[in-house]
Amino acid sequence: MISGYIEFSPPESRQSSSCFNLDCTGVEHGTPIGRALPVTASFEYSGSVTILENISLAQFTTLAVGGPARWFIETADEAEILAAVRFARQQRVPYFILGGGSNLLVSDDGFPGVVIRLTGKNVEIDSRDVATIRADAGVEWDSIVRLAVENNCDGIECLAGIPGSVGGTPVQNVGAYGQEVSGTIEGVRAVDLQTDTVVELSPNQCGFAYRRSIFNTTHRGRYAITRVMYGFTLGGAPNLAYRDVKNYFAEHAIAHPSLAETAAAVREIRARKGMLIAADDPDSRSAGSFFKNPIVPVAKIPGLAAIADCHPDEVPQFPAGTDFAPADAMVKLSAAWLIELAGFRKGYTLGRAGLSTKHVLAIVNRGGATASDIVALRDTIQTAVHARTAIRLEQEPVTLGFPTSH
Ligand SMILES: Cc1cc2nc3c(=O)[nH]c(=O)nc-3n(C[C@H](O)[C@H](O)[C@H](O)COP(=O)(O)OP(=O)(O)OC[C@H]3O[C@@H](n4cnc5c(N)ncnc54)[C@H](O)[C@@H]3O)c2cc1C
Repeated sequence: MISGYIEFSPPESRQSSSCFNLDCTGVEHGTPIGRALPVTASFEYSGSVTILENISLAQFTTLAVGGPARWFIETADEAEILAAVRFARQQRVPYFILGGGSNLLVSDDGFPGVVIRLTGKNVEIDSRDVATIRADAGVEWDSIVRLAVENNCDGIECLAGIPGSVGGTPVQNVGAYGQEVSGTIEGVRAVDLQTDTVVELSPNQCGFAYRRSIFNTTHRGRYAITRVMYGFTLGGAPNLAYRDVKNYFAEHAIAHPSLAETAAAVREIRARKGMLIAADDPDSRSAGSFFKNPIVPVAKIPGLAAIADCHPDEVPQFPAGTDFAPADAMVKLSAAWLIELAGFRKGYTLGRAGLSTKHVLAIVNRGGATASDIVALRDTIQTAVHARTAIRLEQEPVTLGFPTSH
């Protein structure tokens, strides 16, 4: 992936070495959340870390746009992660933890700090009455779905085909076709970059909700997730709650699909929508759904029905989840439906960016797009949806290197 080895030359000392020594003896500040792991006691590092300079980030993202990282390191080692963060502190620059780059929009100017790409690849499975899979952050998520399904573990079969890394899954609590990864997460191991400790967070401490966790809200940027523990019951039935999945099996006359058949069906449904990364599908050069499904008061439905000239029951709506009380006061709308209501169709193009020809929710790099092209289309859609419905669509992908990145 990295084409050349770039000489490290710190701006202050003008050294010309590509490796350098960092003394990273642990220093504690603040209070850790979660269970501190024994490793904390000897969490010291005094070795060589290779840091590359001016590495294009576009190559590490599925949208394939964006400028370079000023500094770039790939590592699976928790002490090295901390060393890299301390380097960023010394240089007074920000740092960013990168996974598979499938939920990321990098600015054309790139990122003026240290990007730390996590590459750990260890996976362990332990299956007796219940099964546990422990996987390093750098493992490809879909390989975990395959492993689970092969071992008769239910709970993530509908999350098949979601790109990205294991470490990325808790961050926005990935979800699809009626399942969320939080349903199986038993623990998250992470380097706490605020306290310089290694901790294990329980699911409760992760604060999971729809496309949310503490990792992308209250504690954004605090943790480098290095390992995730998933727990499963064995031999359960697949989740067939979602309409697309049900329809698929009705069409194929399969009454009792297996977990493997369900995961395969989900991948096929995704491919039809351009939501499965495939080299021969230009619609998959995206960051997936670009907008979250908005959660609004139920009272908004009649107004939307009037705008769409339909019956309120025809406005696509889903339960908002258990985060809202009373539960029936809020409802989740379809961002795709709102985008279409604002007049956009599949394949809509603006400059070198466009909507997928299969799905209006994905913004696609049509070839040679810049981050500015993506942003221009995003803004056009947000403005039009707001003008038509008074609902502001919230962007799903994380931004990096923009003045107001989140
Ligand atoms: C075609 C396509 C389809 C998609 N479909 C879905 C879908 O159905 N459902 C869904 O929920 N998402 C979907 N996504 C979005 C994306 O795949 C997920 O959000 C994925 O989990 C992101 O993981 P990543 O490793 O690529 O993270 P990145 O894009 O690298 O990073 C995203 C955020 O997570 C943080 N992060 C990543 N790894 C770590 C780590 N180890 N420690 C701390 N922070 C970390 C980053 O700092 C950043 O803030 C889709 C994307 C694409 C391109």
